[in-house]
Amino acid sequence: MTVDPKALAEAGRVLEEASEIVMTCHLGPDGDALGSMLGVALAAKQAGKVVLPTFGPPFELGPPYRFLPTELLVPPTEVPTAPEVLVSFDSGNLERLGDLAPHASAARKLIVLDHHAAGSGGFGHINLVDPSAAATAEIAFDLVEQVAWKIDARVATCFLTGLVTDTGRFQYSNTRPATLRLAARLVELGARPEEIGQHVYEETAFGYLPVAAAVLARAELVGDVGLVWSALYQSDLAAAGIGLADTDSLIDLVRLPIEASAALMLKEHAPGIFKGSLRSRGQVDVGSVAVALGGGGHHNAAGFTFEGAPEDAVRAVVRLLKGRP
Ligand code: 5GP
Ligand code: MN
Repeated sequence: MTVDPKALAEAGRVLEEASEIVMTCHLGPDGDALGSMLGVALAAKQAGKVVLPTFGPPFELGPPYRFLPTELLVPPTEVPTAPEVLVSFDSGNLERLGDLAPHASAARKLIVLDHHAAGSGGFGHINLVDPSAAATAEIAFDLVEQVAWKIDARVATCFLTGLVTDTGRFQYSNTRPATLRLAARLVELGARPEEIGQHVYEETAFGYLPVAAAVLARAELVGDVGLVWSALYQSDLAAAGIGLADTDSLIDLVRLPIEASAALMLKEHAPGIFKGSLRSRGQVDVGSVAVALGGGGHHNAAGFTFEGAPEDAVRAVVRLLKGRP
């Protein structure tokens, strides 16, 4: 499956005609949300467009993604509330845009690029949605090719970052031949895999080590459903002097045990409010677990927000994993 060619052509026309393009992506943007958005933003800027890429508060980025062209980002308070053209990246629904949702609703033309399976197939006027795409960056690349904007090394690096991070470095089941072919093209265009690998996977603040130690020491296995879970508290971060944005990879530690058919990492975003990250192996569907808890995501990677104690979130997840509502 690919995106609808008619929708792609229409999106291309809208972007060609636009002089100013507002762009946004899901809250707490990851490598694909940022990579796909900033890649299109940079290519559009170099083609002479005014670009306003942003994302909803908290408007903070962790160090791993600062090598991307983040200088293009503008604070969410500085973008027009009723833009002519708004492009949404990697968000399965309007709510995931946070404070930018009203801007998207008010846009004269709303173009949605996404690869999430759950949902309506897009909440835009023009929907470039392909659940078989490994990353939104695949769709972003198609869009930039459609409008024939130049893909230089920096743009290629943005898109390759989306592919690398959403495929877990080309090892998840979403890695398809087309993903690897696109990766090869991006490297031909000047993207350097080692630059992405170094920044995203091999540089943490020292404070990450004690935080990871605390989170790992707290991990618990709920044996009958094969769920490994742990929690991160604001106090852990304060003690180590790092921020939430530095903790994206904790879930990758928690899900390692062979006993973990599913893994859950709960992070305290505000007192009593936890953001849950779910991962699973193979057939276990955590996407539907997240949806039942008001969140969303993919079959093997999903998330939700929970108000209450971590133990209650775990009880709810265990119940859902057992197939009970
Ligand atoms: P992560 O755990 O890395 O934050 O997210 C994993 C996947 O689930 C990503 O595709 C992400 O977009 C999605 N996801 C995470 N949290 C939420 C949420 O609260 N709502 C929805 N709809 N999707 C989420
Ligand atoms: Mn994505």
